[in-house]
Amino acid sequence: MTYPWPGGTRAAVCLTIDFDGESPYLWRSRETRGPAVGELEQRRYGPRRGIENLLAMTDGLGLRTTVFVPGWIAEEYPAQVAAAHERGHELALHGWCHEPPTGLTGDELHDTLDRAARTLAGVSGARPVGYRSPSWDMTAGVFPVLRSLGIGYDSSLMGDDRPYEVDGVVEIPVDWSTDDAPYYRYVGGDPRPPTPTGPILDAWTREIAAAKAHGTLCMLTVHPWLSGRPARVAVLEELLAPVVADPELCTPTVRELAEHHRAQAGGRTVSLDALGRPAHD
Ligand SMILES: [Zn+2]
Repeated sequence: MTYPWPGGTRAAVCLTIDFDGESPYLWRSRETRGPAVGELEQRRYGPRRGIENLLAMTDGLGLRTTVFVPGWIAEEYPAQVAAAHERGHELALHGWCHEPPTGLTGDELHDTLDRAARTLAGVSGARPVGYRSPSWDMTAGVFPVLRSLGIGYDSSLMGDDRPYEVDGVVEIPVDWSTDDAPYYRYVGGDPRPPTPTGPILDAWTREIAAAKAHGTLCMLTVHPWLSGRPARVAVLEELLAPVVADPELCTPTVRELAEHHRAQAGGRTVSLDALGRPAHD
């Protein structure tokens, strides 16, 4: 069955920015942190430089994105997060300090996301309506928590390459193949160097061409501390300029795509029982 993409287009390409900065490192090392500052500084490149480089590129293309922002980042770097909002990008939830939901009780997840939603609302004037789990770590119990907070969509699972629904929440699926982290993330001592830009441009160009041929979603996920470096931004611009110019492709924000899906009849629906036993009940 052909998915009815917005505007009668053949396929969708979403650019999403996971604005992690230092938050995953701070959470991971919260009980063991020593004097090392190397990875912290490496990650601070995101809020200091990378986010502006990415926003300048998307401004040039006229492309709007969804920015998934840990609440801690919005509190620590309000000017950078406000800049994304003021330039037309959607802000959405990504934990408080990038805590994976598998390590939280339902109440803890609710409270961290509510705190993050209030912080993002303080920047943009409106509570976010979307969520992406840190590291795409998920449990079935996340969905009732999202519903209780009025969150209408999630973007963390890989069970389809078109929007679907889980427990009344629209799922806009992701894919490790079009996430920059497996290619670029290198924090010293890793067994392989970062992937060069050329192979990524080649691989992601093929992903977009395949999405167009098959009528699917290409969900691109980039991190300012990784893809915000100049040569990598240049490659994203080279990749996305023909996408924006192609009338057969749409480039909605994730919220826009979720609302479009909600307005359609049919589509795949997954129950919590089918997904897995809720961990937070
Ligand atoms: Zn993240």
